Amino acid sequence: MKILAILYKGGNAATSEPRLLGTVENQLGIRKWLESQGHEYIVSDSKEGADSDFQKHIVDAEILITTPFHPGYLTGDLVAKAKKLKLCVTAGVGSDHIDLNAAVKNGIQVLEVSGSNVVSVAEHVVMSILLLVRNFVPAHEMIERGDWMVSDIARNAFDLEGKVVGTIGAGRIGYRVLQRLMPFDCKELLYFDYAPLPEAAAKAVNARRVEDLKDFVSQCDVITVNCPLHEGTLGLVNADLLKHFKKGAWLVNTARGAICDKDAVAAALASGHLNGYAGDVWNVQPAPKDHVLRTAKNTLGGGNGMVPHYSGTTLDAQARYASGTKSIIENYLSGKAQEPQNIIVGIGKFETKAYGQR
Ligand code: NAP
Repeated sequence: MKILAILYKGGNAATSEPRLLGTVENQLGIRKWLESQGHEYIVSDSKEGADSDFQKHIVDAEILITTPFHPGYLTGDLVAKAKKLKLCVTAGVGSDHIDLNAAVKNGIQVLEVSGSNVVSVAEHVVMSILLLVRNFVPAHEMIERGDWMVSDIARNAFDLEGKVVGTIGAGRIGYRVLQRLMPFDCKELLYFDYAPLPEAAAKAVNARRVEDLKDFVSQCDVITVNCPLHEGTLGLVNADLLKHFKKGAWLVNTARGAICDKDAVAAALASGHLNGYAGDVWNVQPAPKDHVLRTAKNTLGGGNGMVPHYSGTTLDAQARYASGTKSIIENYLSGKAQEPQNIIVGIGKFETKAYGQR
């Protein structure tokens, strides 16, 4: 069978670092294994437009492997052309780049390697919260420039201790963020999610649920976004919701770019309503050179902690999602049942409610 993988190009880094498994060069480490069984394995980063390898090979591929870091957007139109497609595997976590409704309709299964990079992202979230609250990026830039003016940095540097921090989404990542924040002695840890955490889990991190989103954001000094992108979260953090944020709040989004309206975020930074925005996800990836969030700044010329999408693709994470991808394909080829937590779309139906209450 034909197996198509759309991965990101690793360049020199990938030729000298074989642990960069999620790249076109290192091919998730499964080429030999697939070819030894007689399968055809096509790997490319070419994903946009009718002439791309993605559109050329999707018509007769049975398995599609994609990654959130360089998303091959499987739209409804492409699903209609993918007559042989049976299985989509997301090498990582987050399958919003696949038209999940079209997959349900066409009997295509969608699986991801649940949990494979949740610690990697949670660590990045905590780092991003700290770098915003402590005004780290402008401080480092000052040092590189050869300048030294402590007060220019200290005027907007705070402690995390005593602040109220809240997560939108208290799933695998959101909960791990709360766990990792405990030693910082925040004033309060809050969460907003469809369902309450089990009582013991909420008690273990001393977190309080706030059921109304506007009420939730109005209580937080720091907000971190950890829910999936779906119809109910697209543009969730928009100009209207931002009005309910505390003045001077910090916002961290490592979930998906399109959950936060980029122009509304940039405007809130420019007006001083937001003090900082950080994360690694963009509404289109790769982000265009002139994307507003590359350079958006707060009123003091700082408050930007944006990086390319890499929080969930540390070398440790790549080892986990590459081996998870192999297991999913192995199960499919041998007819073995898949791990339930990995199934987003089973045959003809959603198996998770994380992608919206349906
Ligand atoms: P998860 O365990 O499924 O947790 C997601 C949580 O969000 C669930 O508790 C879900 O609630 C909740 N949720 C869904 N819609 C919501 C809404 N409208 N408001 C509030 N909560 C909502 O997923 P995860 O492993 O923590 O990952 C979360 C997301 O992080 C992924 O979907 C992906 O987009 C992103 N991610 C990013 C990276 C990166 O490298 N930057 C890596 C991995 C993942 P229910 O379960 O009750 O529906």
